[in-house]
Amino acid sequence: MTFRVDSHMHTPLCGHAVGELIEYAMRAAELGIDLITFTCHIPMESAAFGQEGIRMRREQLDDYFALVADAAAAAKPFGVEVLCGIEAEVFPDEAELEPMDAILSAYHFDFVLGSLHAQCQSYLEWLSRNKVTSDAMRIDSYFRHLRDGAQSGRYDSMSHPDVIRTYGVVREFNPVPHEEVIREFLQAVVEEDICMEVNTSGLNKGDFEVHPDPVILDWASEMGVKLTIGSDSHMPNSVGQHFDWIQPMLRDKGFTDLHYFRGRQRVRIDMPQ
Ligand SMILES: [Zn+2]
Ligand SMILES: [Zn+2]
Repeated sequence: MTFRVDSHMHTPLCGHAVGELIEYAMRAAELGIDLITFTCHIPMESAAFGQEGIRMRREQLDDYFALVADAAAAAKPFGVEVLCGIEAEVFPDEAELEPMDAILSAYHFDFVLGSLHAQCQSYLEWLSRNKVTSDAMRIDSYFRHLRDGAQSGRYDSMSHPDVIRTYGVVREFNPVPHEEVIREFLQAVVEEDICMEVNTSGLNKGDFEVHPDPVILDWASEMGVKLTIGSDSHMPNSVGQHFDWIQPMLRDKGFTDLHYFRGRQRVRIDMPQ
């Protein structure tokens, strides 16, 4: 039996996810998933990153740890290990990330995702301030910022790496004309010895495609990028969504293993069949 994991899911503390944490764990148990990691949205100081309805408040972090610990204890008899991670933000203006860095060093997360939410007011304003107007410029800028994020040492895995294709930030997304800049991002992931996330939530929205695009996955496989996998669940029923056919697809592309993190330490598992 292969060990199965889902390393990206949310909690009601962010204000746009539903269900008790134990329900996420029970759904994992039903699917034969052995380990799940909650990665709710990290508190951010600036309002431009969204507050209520987007992310928990700074003073709710202790509640978050307590909720995950309770779920871990309740899920253990059902054979599911539950870890406490966080979905941190990637952003071009380092000063905006200082309060977030203070949280990352004050709390012991198992796993830190790095996400650039291109649809966020903060990034849309950055694009307009810097006159990054065309789709082509926006896509290049997005992957350069992801590359810088990969090189920052903050994150264990770069999550939903082409989420710029969703939510109307660009009209059209085709990775091929951006191969050079996307490969620079992938190279940074390899050189920094971190991971990239395969995020199956993209299959439910926007272009109905996995994040990142299968073409990017081909390049990543060729370059030796290590992967984590996450459903990005905001409700219990999405845990492990689409994994049954995405994992064989990843194996076909040459990925023989997957990774998860416990106490910020990477653990390798065989790619589930
Ligand atoms: Zn969310
Ligand atoms: Zn996200």
